[in-house]
Amino acid sequence: MSPEQKPDSLMTAEGLRFDGRRPDEMRPIQMEVGVLKTADGSASIRQGKTYILAAVYGPRELHPRHLTLNDRAYLRVVYRMATFSVPDRKRPAPSRREREISMVIANALQPALFLEEFPKAVVDVFIQVIQADGGTRCAAINAASLALADAGIPMKSLVPSVAVGKAEGTLIVDLGDEEDKYGQGDVPMAILPNTNELTLLQQDGSFTREELVEAIEMGVNACRYLHELQKDALKRAYSKRATEEDDDEEDEEYDDDLETDLGEADIMEDE
Ligand code: UDP
Repeated sequence: MSPEQKPDSLMTAEGLRFDGRRPDEMRPIQMEVGVLKTADGSASIRQGKTYILAAVYGPRELHPRHLTLNDRAYLRVVYRMATFSVPDRKRPAPSRREREISMVIANALQPALFLEEFPKAVVDVFIQVIQADGGTRCAAINAASLALADAGIPMKSLVPSVAVGKAEGTLIVDLGDEEDKYGQGDVPMAILPNTNELTLLQQDGSFTREELVEAIEMGVNACRYLHELQKDALKRAYSKRATEEDDDEEDEEYDDDLETDLGEADIMEDE
């Protein structure tokens, strides 16, 4: 659906959302770890039609040097949307929105990381939105925290993130683009699941105090679900790597056999 096509209503008479979801139902989600070979850590996320890649490099030497922090590593987050990520061509120059979202994501991730273990270094997190369909900052946090874990950066925990919004008076979780544009507001959040600390809480639109409390509860529940998906994605990547390493070892044994066989053949020929 193009952005011009405003749905007649965001909620049906049966209390479902216009895409058929229940108010507390997430979009289909797929997370993959280790999707880029050159990065120290990487991950991808598909959340509905939103599709994002995150790559982590570091800890490594920081340039320019004037950004150096003597007591910890500098967490440098760059969030960018591809020009083709939205139906209206996105201008390639970094926008104010992209700079602000980069900062918000860094603030959401930082409390999960033991950056003090790497003074003066930098940990670079590059986030590329390939396709945007709402909720990109939250999906980016989900993928970036997986990429940080994949890079072996010491962490207290992964950081799951989701937005809860409001459409026609009903609180709804994990907004798509139309719900974001034509709804009554949204509250993106991120948590550290071990301690229940909120590391991101923003609000757009107006909510009563009761609605806000309920929205946070819904978001925290959704984050717990996302955390399970994140852990599952990490486990899948590690077991795949372990299988590949076993296969490599078997190949080496096979190579040894070949050498021995060839050696024997040479001896036979000499005789
Ligand atoms: N969007 C867009 N063009 C832009 C920026 C955003 O079409 O230049 C869309 C995109 O689908 C994005 C949504 O608007 O996901 C909501 O953007 P917002 O700034 O609320 O951030 P997000 O919800 O993606 O974290």
